[in-house]
Amino acid sequence: MDFCLFCSIIDGSIPSAKVYEDEYVYAFRDINPQAPVHVLVVPKTHISNTNELNAENSVLVAKCFEAIPVIAAQEGLTNGYRVINNCGEDGGQTVKHLHFHILGGKKLSEQMV
Ligand code: 5GP
Ligand code: ZN
Repeated sequence: MDFCLFCSIIDGSIPSAKVYEDEYVYAFRDINPQAPVHVLVVPKTHISNTNELNAENSVLVAKCFEAIPVIAAQEGLTNGYRVINNCGEDGGQTVKHLHFHILGGKKLSEQMV
């Protein structure tokens, strides 16, 4: 497989600010935060994006979403937050390893969804 930035973050060869980790999921602060809290939640197994999901690997999405409320509580997002996934060119995906953005810590714009 070609170099993957998030696989390198997961294996520790590129440093990150970890906020959560379990057997299946790693979560860390976005390097260019778009909100006071901006965390990226990624499966430890490489999946390029949502187009690569299937019956065999979709459990990893469930594992990410099980981690999200734990992370939200840890980050003090008691008043809500937004979860975003970008897929492909038109979706604005820049890192080709499936990830979910958790954005919160302020009232977010209602312009996009
Ligand atoms: P995408 O645009 O693919 O949905 O999101 C990729 C995210 O990864 C962006 O929000 C970007 O700021 C973040 N990012 C890119 N490179 C790094 C990095 O080296 N470290 C961290 N922590 N975040 C990164
Ligand atoms: Zn990867």
